[in-house]
Amino acid sequence: MTIKEIGKQIHEWAHRKGFYGASCKADRGLPCPHVGGSIGSHLMLIVTELAEACEADRKGDRENFKEELADVAIRLFDLCAAECIDLEAEIEKKMLANENREHRHGKRY
Ligand SMILES: [Mg+2]
Repeated sequence: MTIKEIGKQIHEWAHRKGFYGASCKADRGLPCPHVGGSIGSHLMLIVTELAEACEADRKGDRENFKEELADVAIRLFDLCAAECIDLEAEIEKKMLANENREHRHGKRY
C-alpha cells in the first residue's frame, strides 16, 4: 500500500467519522473544500501530536510514543490526501535534492 492510498483511506475515514462535511472532491483530484480554508489549523494539529510524542518520550512511555508518532503520520497523510498532494513523490524529490547537497549540507558542526 502506498502513502497516497493510506492517506485516501484516512481522509475517507475522517469524513465518515464526521470530522469534515459529508462530501469531498479529493477523490476527484480536487482539494477537499472542508480543509482548504484551515490548513494552518491542520498543521498545528500535527504539531500537537509531535508535542504529545515528545511528552511520551520524556515520560519514558515507549508505547504511547509510538502511538503519537502514528497520530503525526495520520494527520499528515490526511492533510496531503485532502490537498491532493502526492507525499511519496514529494519525499522522493526531496531525498534526491538532499542527496545532491553538500556533506551535512555544508555545515561544519
Ligand atoms: Mg495523539
